[in-house]
Amino acid sequence: SLSDRLGSVFDRLRGRGALNETEVRAAMREVRIALLEADVALPVVREFTDKVTEQAVGQQVLKSVTPGQQVVKIVHDALVEMLGADASELNIEVTPPAVIMMVGLQGSGKTTTTAKLAKRLTEKDRKKVMMASLDVNRPAAQEQLAILGRQADVATLPVVQGQQPVDIARRALQSAKLQGFDILLLDTAGRLHVDQGLMDEMKAVAEVADPEEILLVVDALTGQDAVNVAKSFSEQVAVTGVVLTRLDGDARGGAALSMRAITGKPIKFAGMGEGIDALEGFHPDRVAGRILGMGDVVSLVERAGETIKAEEAEAMARKLAKGQFDLNDLRNQLMQMQRMGGLGALAGMLPGMKKVQGAVKDMDNKILIHMDAVIGSMTPKERSRPELMNAKRKIRVAKGSGTTVQEVNKLLKMHQEMAGAMKKIRKMGGLGKLGALFG
Ligand code: GDP
Ligand code: MG
Repeated sequence: SLSDRLGSVFDRLRGRGALNETEVRAAMREVRIALLEADVALPVVREFTDKVTEQAVGQQVLKSVTPGQQVVKIVHDALVEMLGADASELNIEVTPPAVIMMVGLQGSGKTTTTAKLAKRLTEKDRKKVMMASLDVNRPAAQEQLAILGRQADVATLPVVQGQQPVDIARRALQSAKLQGFDILLLDTAGRLHVDQGLMDEMKAVAEVADPEEILLVVDALTGQDAVNVAKSFSEQVAVTGVVLTRLDGDARGGAALSMRAITGKPIKFAGMGEGIDALEGFHPDRVAGRILGMGDVVSLVERAGETIKAEEAEAMARKLAKGQFDLNDLRNQLMQMQRMGGLGALAGMLPGMKKVQGAVKDMDNKILIHMDAVIGSMTPKERSRPELMNAKRKIRVAKGSGTTVQEVNKLLKMHQEMAGAMKKIRKMGGLGKLGALFG
């Protein structure tokens, strides 16, 4: 699998500090081959590997994972983004009935998907759903939908022989309005190939039905063809989303990968089998995982990142508890706190810090910056031994930092209280809780 390929490229390089360009490029050659084997379109592959290279080069390798594993994680995240990380919901919260029109080639799975989606909207979203078949080309098409409707316990528009698609659409809309349906699903006819007749019929129906969603159903097994089909359809009607069917049989995932990049249309659902329940929301992370063929690499790297944060926090906590917390440390913490949303909020997260919280309650970023200036005006000796700060030194520092003696005092008092609180926490055995502050 792709993650094995990457692993072997990088395992030789275990223990280096940062990912360098030569290493990353070697890994990207493997990614490139794997994506091409998965039937991903060439320009998409190129764009993808360029982007990942840019992100990976220079990144520090986390202590407890191999560089290969870390690159797998970077590739994984980029795949998720490429597949469309943002969950794309159906736009159905409108004045009912919300019309969803299903389009696509014959045999792509439109009728099956219409019934699957109707069932899902009925059961999961508690909507009152009606389906109507506009397929007058295939003799049994309308009957097929009616049978699926009975199976899924979803209403279908009664068939009137001899009506044309546009007329059926009109009748369906009227009927759905009259009977108070929330959603009307229109299953349209397909052709074996994209042709203008199909497109014209589709456009005419869309004009009459004014759908909220036009879902294009494409067969994932057709790979790059699926993407080309999607392109032609979305040039003709305002496709709002794609349903990829037969993903259950597609181990390669190429269509899924190219779809978003080439058509710009989000994949909204995935068909995972013939059964009426075999429709899933599209989960980019699962698909990315499957393409990479990896086990737990991604979560391993995530855990490693957390471990390092925790290690740093513990090291700092040990220092504090030993009373080695000087003004240099305080200065670092102030800067971190500033980044993390202010002092008051953070102090509140710590046990034994209520006193400090009171002292810093009204502090905003401006005050943090003042404090930084105060520490900056001290000599290195004063920073590591704050007890040296007598009245004369305080006046000097206040002048140098453009603050007041009062502010200098406030800072020193805060440092004292923090150092004291740290010792107390140490005694209480609450060391782990510090992670929240310094993580
Ligand atoms: P239509 O011509 O676009 O309406 O296609 P149909 O809905 O009639 O489906 C054609 C065939 O594909 C049927 O045999 C379906 O059971 C099958 N099919 C549809 N979706 C899926 C899917 O997600 N997975 C699998 N394995 N088969 C599917
Ligand atoms: Mg059909």
